[in-house]
Parts: sequence; structure tokens; C-alpha cells
Amino acid sequence: MNGEIIAVGSELLLGQIVNTNARFISEELANIGINVYYHTVIGDNKQRLKQVVEIAQQRADLIIFTGGLGPTKDDLTKETIASLLGVALSMDKAALQSIEDYFSRRNLNMTENNKKQALVFDGSEVLPNDNGMAPGMVLTKDGITYMLLPGPPSEMEPMLTTYGKNALIKRMDRSEKIQSRVLRFYGIGEASLEDQLLDLFEGQTNPTMAPLAANGEVTIRLTAKHASDNTRIQLLDTLEQTIKERVGEYFYGYDDTTLVKEMGKLIQENKLTLSVAESLTGGLFQEEVTSISGVSEWFKGGVVTYWPEVKINLLNVSKETIDQYGVVSEQCAKEMAENVRRLLQTEIGLSFTGVAGPATLEGKEPGTVFVGLSMKDAPTVAYQLKLSGNRESVRTRAVKNGAWRVIK
Ligand code: ATP
Ligand code: MG
Repeated sequence: MNGEIIAVGSELLLGQIVNTNARFISEELANIGINVYYHTVIGDNKQRLKQVVEIAQQRADLIIFTGGLGPTKDDLTKETIASLLGVALSMDKAALQSIEDYFSRRNLNMTENNKKQALVFDGSEVLPNDNGMAPGMVLTKDGITYMLLPGPPSEMEPMLTTYGKNALIKRMDRSEKIQSRVLRFYGIGEASLEDQLLDLFEGQTNPTMAPLAANGEVTIRLTAKHASDNTRIQLLDTLEQTIKERVGEYFYGYDDTTLVKEMGKLIQENKLTLSVAESLTGGLFQEEVTSISGVSEWFKGGVVTYWPEVKINLLNVSKETIDQYGVVSEQCAKEMAENVRRLLQTEIGLSFTGVAGPATLEGKEPGTVFVGLSMKDAPTVAYQLKLSGNRESVRTRAVKNGAWRVIK
């Protein structure tokens, strides 16, 4: 299938919001083997919507719309497409019920125009909206599949992943189906990774291998094509194993996981607890940790100690250490990690101290970072890093490195 995404909404054209829906939908479609050749954005205007649909019909056999499914006057996607295709709209009982429930749960009065949201194309497959009101729908007519999705990303994204993708997979030819898997690596550069896998990169046609380096990490997307689901999975498993035999020590997870998430899994599996002392990262590590649900099982807490005297007063880092070595030092990182671990009584204590930049600190260059790791019953260690990039990049890379040290 060749796809085109049409995002409807004047706010997109005005620059008030970014078309993140097109990005998300494209990525999800790529994952199941559908090529997207065009992104179109138009305002809430019937005439122009008609025009772009007529153009899309010439060049795509899958057209995905997002936006304009709501109850208000400017929400005209559904009506416009219905009249263009000559299909009738009828009330979907389940969708109406779910809209009524939506209002009663919130103790709100449902106005008449809200019912309009439960109108769907005759003969379409309805995609339930578990996070809002307007349902989505899929209809195949004259060889072209039309999918309508709501505008708010919080509704559109789960609708597509939970129901929409399956509706499309059902409509694909067996020969078109693909299976992808992303392998994530840390601590190895793209060039070096490619070097060690060169023959695979060159010889591989099924699965294909696509490397990508971003934000201090390297990923390889493996994509297998084959008629049967099982064969595709086998092909991926075999190639994954070969890759891991060579660079397995740098592998940390699959698909869209993160180093911090994988660290958390490991800590939890081992029934351990973590505490953190941050300086240059200013809470960034703990922000990422606490965005994981269920984190209280293994994360006790932490401190942000920015000034030297706060490291001394709050964390008991010794004044002599700071006077002698500075705060950007192995010694300071070790004391921070060890002291936060004792203070918060955890098995693991992690610390970050360094120079985020752009100015130097204590005569040390930006990007000089020490990550301290203190574990119960083991000598406390600190790792010196030389991170590249601007202030933001140094801080986010330090966070990743900290998680990596715990994993290792
Ligand atoms: P609602 O029922 O909320 O009105 P809708 O399907 O009618 O949903 P729109 O009214 O077009 O959707 O958009 C609602 C909001 O969703 C927008 O204000 C915007 O915040 C977000 N949104 C819409 N389209 C996009 C898009 N392409 N990318 C990112 N966000 C979007
Ligand atoms: Mg709307």
C-alpha cells in the first residue's frame, strides 16, 4: 500500500501547532511496511479538502485523515469525505453510547451536536476512541482505503496503535507484510558498530539492516519480509543472534525503550533500590526515572546539590575533598554516590557532577563529567566522561551514561 496523510486544521497552517500526527502515523505505517509518499496539510475548508482528496486519489491507495472529527462547525472532515465518496452516514450505536458515557462520567450535559460525532460511514469499520469521543473509521472503496482519525494526539495515537494498525494489516497483501525490530546500543559509535558488522550490512537483503545514530546512541532497524509471520520472526531472530555475537556487550534493549527504563527493570528484577545525587544534571535523571510508572518500587529519592557548600552541608561531601580536587572530580563523585546511598539507605547510589558548559569550571572543559556509582558491599567507583555537544546535550548524555553504568 502507498499512503498519503492529510492533516486537517487551520491551526496547523497558522503555525500554532506542529503536525506531530503526521510524524507519528508515518512511523507506525513504516513499521508495518506501508510506504508514505506524501504529507499534506490543509485548513478547515471544504473546498480545499475536496481538492486535496482528489489529488491523493490519483497517487495513493491509502489515505489517512487526522483532525476535524469533533462536534463543532469547523470539524468537517467526515461530512466532506462522505459527500465526495457518495457514502451515507449513519449513527453508530456503540460510539453514541460511549459518547453518552463520556459525558455522564464527567457529570456534564451532552449537547445535540455531540451526537454528530457518532455518525460513521455506512459499511466502514469503526475504530473505538478509548480516550475521547469521536470514533475513527476505515472504509475501502474502489480500491482505495480511507482512514479517519481524530486530531488530538492523545486520542489519535492509541487509536492507531490499538485498532487502526490491525485494520490496515487485514487489508494488506500477504506479500507486503513486514516485521521490524529495533536493536539499541550504547557505548559504541556508529562507525565502529558498522565496521564490526560490515559484511552483514553489505550482504543482507532479507532482513534489511538500517543503522541510525542519534543522541549518543546507535540503533539498527531489522526489517524482514516474508509471506508467513513465523518465518519473518525466525529471520529476525537469526540475524539478531549473529549481531549480538559480535557487539552484544553494547546492546541494551529493543524498539523504543530507553537506558533509564532498562536500568529500572534490572534494579526491580534484582529487588534493589536506588538513590541519586545530581549536580550538573539538576534533577534530569530523577525526572526521567520518575516518569516511569511503578518506579516507587525501586527508586527511593535523591537530591540536587548544585553549590559546593550544598554538597558539603546536605550530602556530607568533605570540604577537604572539594578544596583539594574540586567538585568536578572522581573523588567528589564517589563521595556523592556513597553518601546519598547511606543517607537514603539504598543498595545503589548514583551521582553526577561535571561541567555542562558553555563556560569552563575549575579549569575543566565543558563535557567533563564524573558519574559515581556506589553499591553496597563493593568499592565505590567513578567514571570520567568526555561528552560532546552543547549544555543540553551534555546533560542528557550524562543521564544516559549514568543508567548505563548501573546496567553494567
Ligand atoms: P476534537 O473532538 O477535540 O475537536 P478533532 O478530531 O475535531 O477533535 P481537531 O479539532 O482538528 O480534532 O484538533 C483538536 C486538537 O488536536 C488541535 O487543537 C490540536 O491541539 C490537536 N491536533 C490536531 N491535529 C493535529 C496534528 N496534525 N498534529 C498534532 N496535533 C494535532
Ligand atoms: Mg475539533
